[in-house]
Amino acid sequence: MKWRGRRKSSNVEDRRGSSTGGKIAIGGGLIGLIIVLFQLFSGGDATEVLEQLQDQSGTTTEARELTAEEKELGDFSATVLADTEDVWHEIFQQNGSTYREPGMVLFSDAVRTACGGASAASGPFYCPADEKIYMDLSFFEALHTRFGAEKGDFAIAYVIAHEVGHHVQGLLGTMQQVRQLQQGMSTAEANQLSVALELQADFYAGLWAHHNREYLEEGDIGEAMSAASAVGDDAIQRRTSGRVVPDAFTHGTSQQRMEWFMKGYKTGELQSGNTFPSLGF
Ligand SMILES: [Zn+2]
Repeated sequence: MKWRGRRKSSNVEDRRGSSTGGKIAIGGGLIGLIIVLFQLFSGGDATEVLEQLQDQSGTTTEARELTAEEKELGDFSATVLADTEDVWHEIFQQNGSTYREPGMVLFSDAVRTACGGASAASGPFYCPADEKIYMDLSFFEALHTRFGAEKGDFAIAYVIAHEVGHHVQGLLGTMQQVRQLQQGMSTAEANQLSVALELQADFYAGLWAHHNREYLEEGDIGEAMSAASAVGDDAIQRRTSGRVVPDAFTHGTSQQRMEWFMKGYKTGELQSGNTFPSLGF
């Protein structure tokens, strides 16, 4: 994607390299100090506690400098987010409404969100409660090494656009409708609705790529498709458990995910993204 020198979103919070546990460490330090004092005065051995204290302050309070590669990934992500803002402002306007921009938090290791705590293991996600997209960029290394996706910047762009798609579902009320319908359903039925939500977010990612065509480079769509395929439920299940259980699908198969992304990319029309045919949305 041609992204250098273009507008970067101002809605990005970069928490990589900075400590999330600063306060905890101070609290732990104080409690630790009391324990040390207590042990010293009661004649116990304080060496172990002192060592623990050192470990704590070393790992949780020190901020580190981002590498050049990390900075570049941050700039790229901020440019993609800016592109989604431009595209969705236009689409909402055409449909007579106003787009509210989501935030994006870049983090490493662990993060606190309005939807609870999360670790890098959860992958990128959108939290409706604070309208923020949470991205641990090391996920993309795993996408490549563990899930076999092609390496490329557009895999990241696809995932950001997919998470923005969930934000759009929140603004349009689709997400709320689905969550309501899922109450009282069997798990298999509820999972089908989750799949439809995910496929629609893939469609929205494709829709975004369609409206961002002028910045695409050869190979970009292939990278997005490869990423979409790598994160298909069947592909993930095969890698993690060795078998495929369709009822447990919550995101759709690799084939479905690629199809809906391509449908969005080819049509460029919001109205073509009905992944809920049986519900009449
Ligand atoms: Zn999703």
